[in-house]
Amino acid sequence: MPAATLSPEVMAKYEPVIGLEVHVQLLTATKTFCSCANQFGSAPNTNVCPVCLGLPGALPVLNEKAVEFATLASLAINCEVRERSIFARKNYFYPDLPKGYQISQFDKPLAEHGWIDVPTSDGSTKRIGITRLHMEEDAGKSLHEGFNDSATHTYLDLNRCGTPLAEIVSDPDIRTPDEAFEYLTRLKEILLYCGVSDCNMEEGSLRCDANVSVRLKGAPQFGPKVEVKNVNSFRFIRAALEYEIERQIEVVESGGSNRQETRLWNSAEGRTYTMRSKEQAHDYRYFPEPDLPPLVVSPEFLAETRKKLPELPEARRARMIAEYELAPKDAFTLTATREFADRFEAAAKTARNPRRVANLLLSELGGRLRALGLEQEQSPVSMAGLVLAADLLDENKISSRQLKQLFDVCFEKGEDFAAVYQREKPEQITDASAIEAMIDQVISANPKQVEQYRAGKKTVAGFFVGQAMKASKGQANPALLNELVTKKLEG
Ligand SMILES: [Zn+2]
Repeated sequence: MPAATLSPEVMAKYEPVIGLEVHVQLLTATKTFCSCANQFGSAPNTNVCPVCLGLPGALPVLNEKAVEFATLASLAINCEVRERSIFARKNYFYPDLPKGYQISQFDKPLAEHGWIDVPTSDGSTKRIGITRLHMEEDAGKSLHEGFNDSATHTYLDLNRCGTPLAEIVSDPDIRTPDEAFEYLTRLKEILLYCGVSDCNMEEGSLRCDANVSVRLKGAPQFGPKVEVKNVNSFRFIRAALEYEIERQIEVVESGGSNRQETRLWNSAEGRTYTMRSKEQAHDYRYFPEPDLPPLVVSPEFLAETRKKLPELPEARRARMIAEYELAPKDAFTLTATREFADRFEAAAKTARNPRRVANLLLSELGGRLRALGLEQEQSPVSMAGLVLAADLLDENKISSRQLKQLFDVCFEKGEDFAAVYQREKPEQITDASAIEAMIDQVISANPKQVEQYRAGKKTVAGFFVGQAMKASKGQANPALLNELVTKKLEG
């Protein structure tokens, strides 16, 4: 039963051991072994042919694009790609698998011995090994609900049969649900950067099963492994692992022992249920696929594919931190997708101060978009507008208060920044004596802060700048204001 009763001291005696199996659908135009469209959302059973329906006599022909994408993904996760890999038949009976077997790879997969680095909570990184990446085909889908007679009937949609998949299996290197979450986040990011999958979990183009066991810390052996299936979001993976770790520890603590089994996650109830025990496990009887020759990845093909690798997220973050003097946290946000990073960098290169563009993009603009539930693409302020705003700030032609006011108008009227700026042309006070008069007022109204400043608390200057800017209705030239505040306070 769900626990939440174990003390942190008891939990701390144990070490969870986690490995993840990720299936990703590859974004090819056609299926793995036939020319049917590889497309989500078509009318049921319209993208099918004798090959993917497994009709007698139909022969598979391997899609070279699927090999390229799987190879690209293998390289991106630092795997060694095997020159000759073997397709195998994985035999099992299920209504959504008309052939009675799935074409997969078994003892000679496409790629092995990879790794990815994931950030840890203490700011360092941890390397998670990748056992293998192999190619296989997807099965169809059983539709258990949505029909008038769903209570008594199950329908089959075989459009998905033969969709190319890459299965990526991690080493059992993961120790916490957070690490699992990070691993999946980084892996998805890499695959998206490579453009090999859309990694859309809701549509099933990225699916994840987790293997988890617990052992007393320092114990040499792994505990019996539980496979958790049916987890369809990264958030649920974390929740399912948290639940399962605690459940297994509780079994051991109460004198029992865990057993090797497959369990299903139920997100509504927040718990896992036994699906089948080890005794009921499938015996897939793998054997080499007689209709397909060995898959040969020549050194030339490998070299060509390697050239197609984009700059990967981790390298890109490191470069952007150095190049634009970004905070690591901001670099993570800016590189969340390749498209977003591309848009930022294209704009940043035209700006006087790229870091300021990043700040505006993430805070001033990002905050407004988040509050309105808008995507970056729906922003009234374009990247060019943002660069103009950043440049004006940088040249002290507008104050940050004026910038906020201009952004207000942009969002009210749905206009870009350049148009609003041209029309409104906010006034700026550059007359030193006028600004000094405002500062004098603020200083005489706040003797306590003046005292603090003179006692050595120099940061109080910011308070005076803010107050004086407010008094000028945001119109004081920021550089001049700053200079005069310091002069007055020191004087
Ligand atoms: Zn087909």
